[in-house]
Amino acid sequence: MSNLDVRPAPRLCGGGGRTGPVRDLQPGKQVPLGESTLVRRLLPNLGRRMVGAWCFVDHYGPDDIAGEPGMQVPPHPHIGLQTVSWLREGEVLHRDSLGSLQTVRPGELGLMTAGRAIAHSEESPRDHTRHLHGAQLWVALPEAHRDRAPAFEHHAGLPVVAGGGGLTATVILGTLDGATSPGTVHTPLVGADVALAAGTDTRLPLDPDFEYAALTVSGTAEVDGVPLAPGSLLYLGCGRSALPLRADVDSSFVLLGGEPFEEQIVMWWNFVGRSHEDIEQAREEWTTGTRFGRVTGYEGGPLPAPELPKVRLKPRGDLR
Ligand code: MN
Repeated sequence: MSNLDVRPAPRLCGGGGRTGPVRDLQPGKQVPLGESTLVRRLLPNLGRRMVGAWCFVDHYGPDDIAGEPGMQVPPHPHIGLQTVSWLREGEVLHRDSLGSLQTVRPGELGLMTAGRAIAHSEESPRDHTRHLHGAQLWVALPEAHRDRAPAFEHHAGLPVVAGGGGLTATVILGTLDGATSPGTVHTPLVGADVALAAGTDTRLPLDPDFEYAALTVSGTAEVDGVPLAPGSLLYLGCGRSALPLRADVDSSFVLLGGEPFEEQIVMWWNFVGRSHEDIEQAREEWTTGTRFGRVTGYEGGPLPAPELPKVRLKPRGDLR
């Protein structure tokens, strides 16, 4: 992490002694997803675990998968979170233990609310387009909603914010500049795909009570003066009412934000809980084939859970 900002007199937000606007550039880490896909993990990272309720960010591609299987993630369980599938290119076929079977395409929201328990698989369809490029994002559910019934939503029509001077923002989830996604959320947050045409020089209205981060997916967006090449996350802090944006070439980035998440969580494998016991029980019930239901139609068996670490898992806040 490198702190590029030294602004004095930070404004607090979220009531947790937070700093105001910052520009912390946090590099991603390459990790394998399934057998054939490499992703850049941007959250959690070395310095930060969450941005608002967003607790997990993987950016993948653009990958040329012509003649290859592409993404193949076997059935696996989730608890206590929502998953957001967002594509810039290609398509992902989602199956889950509720019986959902849905192809998610660029510009569409695939939103799975795990709640108490769900299992799903994600795969490139057999007949797929040449390039695969997108993001897999998780939102932690607050205590009041983490045991709710599981659900899957697919929204093909998302609101678009047209800013001045070449900015077009698709609101994936939550609210941006008065436009709200139809996806169900349980804490105040936003996820948006922001496209900047070459020559854009503008300001995007933000909510000062939210903290934000930006990850570039194509081109080189200049976010609050910081040129952001694909593969890193720029944490922007709180207390901003607008975000200065420039681009010399056509660029796009994903903006994530939300009210700072005040609850401590335990995140391990595909589970978000509040205690070691929550995680241990979910792992046990995945292994014994209870609680999560079955995903049908995926060619191949489910993902086995890894061994729990020898030490007890501890609840943690949004920073390391
Ligand atoms: Mn998953």
